[in-house]
Amino acid sequence: MDADREDLEKIVMALSLTREEEIGCDECFERLDRFVEMELSGLDAAAAMPLVEDHLRKCGDCREEFGALLEALKEGGRGPVGRLWSRLRRSLGAG
Ligand SMILES: [Zn+2]
Repeated sequence: MDADREDLEKIVMALSLTREEEIGCDECFERLDRFVEMELSGLDAAAAMPLVEDHLRKCGDCREEFGALLEALKEGGRGPVGRLWSRLRRSLGAG
């Protein structure tokens, strides 16, 4: 009886943890620009947004996106790439 209840609690806990500890590509992409901005500001982006960090470690696609965004924002957002990104982000936000 006790063991069953313990198991059930473990399962419930595991389910809620999984939901909180993993994000998908969409969610990762939504937070990616803030993540990169923090990184570029010298803040600990990985500590502030562990879910994004976690997803980037697991997902090659998003890691590539992260690298591209990092490069784009390093330009200061003033170059053509930066302008392209802000336009892309606006259109994505509107969608
Ligand atoms: Zn992803």
